[in-house]
Amino acid sequence: MHEPRAIHGKCTDCGNVFRVIELPAPLTAAAEAMRRATCTRCGSTKRIVIARDEEVTNG
Ligand SMILES: [Zn+2]
Repeated sequence: MHEPRAIHGKCTDCGNVFRVIELPAPLTAAAEAMRRATCTRCGSTKRIVIARDEEVTNG
């Protein structure tokens, strides 16, 4: 059984990795979700990048 795929963002301010949007999702929705992503730890909105699979530890 696989976890549902999702796009995770990584905050480059504090290193927090968090789920941004679950997949499948329309590309436009995924892009919009990333653009509006807010770090769940420090609240940063400007330095969120897409996390690589190996950076995602919380499933
Ligand atoms: Zn952060």
